[in-house]
Amino acid sequence: MAGEAVNLPKVGVSRRELSDLEMLSVGALSPLTGFQGEAEYRSILESMHLPNGIPWTIPVTLSLTDDDVKRIGGSDAVALVSDDGEDALAVLEIEEIFKRDREREAESVFLTTDLDHAGVKALHEAGDYCLAGRVRVLRLPRHDDFNAYRLTPAETRAEFRARGWRRVVGFQTRNPIHRAHEYIQKCALEIVDGLLVHPLMGATKGDDVPADVRMRCYEALFEGYYPKDRAMISIFPAAMRYAGPKEAIWHAICRKNYGCTHFIVGRDHAGVGDYYGTYDAQKIFDEFEPEELGITPLMFEHSFWCNRCEGMGSPKTCPHGAEDRVSLSGTRVREMLRNGERPPLEFSRPEVADVLIEAMRENG
Ligand SMILES: [Zn+2]
Repeated sequence: MAGEAVNLPKVGVSRRELSDLEMLSVGALSPLTGFQGEAEYRSILESMHLPNGIPWTIPVTLSLTDDDVKRIGGSDAVALVSDDGEDALAVLEIEEIFKRDREREAESVFLTTDLDHAGVKALHEAGDYCLAGRVRVLRLPRHDDFNAYRLTPAETRAEFRARGWRRVVGFQTRNPIHRAHEYIQKCALEIVDGLLVHPLMGATKGDDVPADVRMRCYEALFEGYYPKDRAMISIFPAAMRYAGPKEAIWHAICRKNYGCTHFIVGRDHAGVGDYYGTYDAQKIFDEFEPEELGITPLMFEHSFWCNRCEGMGSPKTCPHGAEDRVSLSGTRVREMLRNGERPPLEFSRPEVADVLIEAMRENG
């Protein structure tokens, strides 16, 4: 089957684009069927919708350099290859090549043009042109890890049906899960049938916790504390954009494709640094009609253990002050783990802490 791609000009895809290609091919980016053209690109940047009125907040584009554009010439199709130079992953039927509007894209998607922002930086490193067209996938990118957890949208939907879950809440994460996030997941689970913990496993910033360590944390947490007939883990193959509010909407739409009816939006969802207000990623849902997204956001505040409540809570449910609440900064937690010290039980499950302590030891 890949034979047809042999004579086509080759275009290399970056790690982020490879994630997008995988997402396109499994239907995680439905209704998209290929990398987007200029009319859709402009429409998303101006209105957060596709030209046909469907909500969409982050363009899914394939970058080309000037040299690529010259090399492709007047071809009708190209073969997409990964950086490792193996055989073709997909054939893209060229609809158009257009010039990227970097400033406008940065302002619209990331709400900043600051090059220190990880997403803006990646945008500036990408080629000046975008190659648009439908993709026909020849083979999915190969993964040598966590294959048991790589369910496609069709597979998660089938699994939900098999488990009899009609209402399912999705949880996006790129971090180990401590008590605060366990609490909001379980609060959400109280009102639906099932929980999908859906960790993002595409490219992240270098200083995020590595994927294999995170996966061991999720497994330890599920083993000790989650009901197996009500909760499951599957991998979300997307790469992080760090686009805050725009990415929260995009994440929700993708989870609808995986069969979720509800989606958890916590504080500073998909944020980085202090580019976005704590609850901006929740407020943006108000800019859409409730039915147009097709998935219900569940908003949560910062949560914590309170010694006087003797339980988990948030500013919405706990009337006590900071002196009664167990709260630790990310920096403090990392420091404790590096010293081989478990954070308090009220902050982190010991099994999760042990995975992180061991990982820090292995990685020096
Ligand atoms: Zn309290």
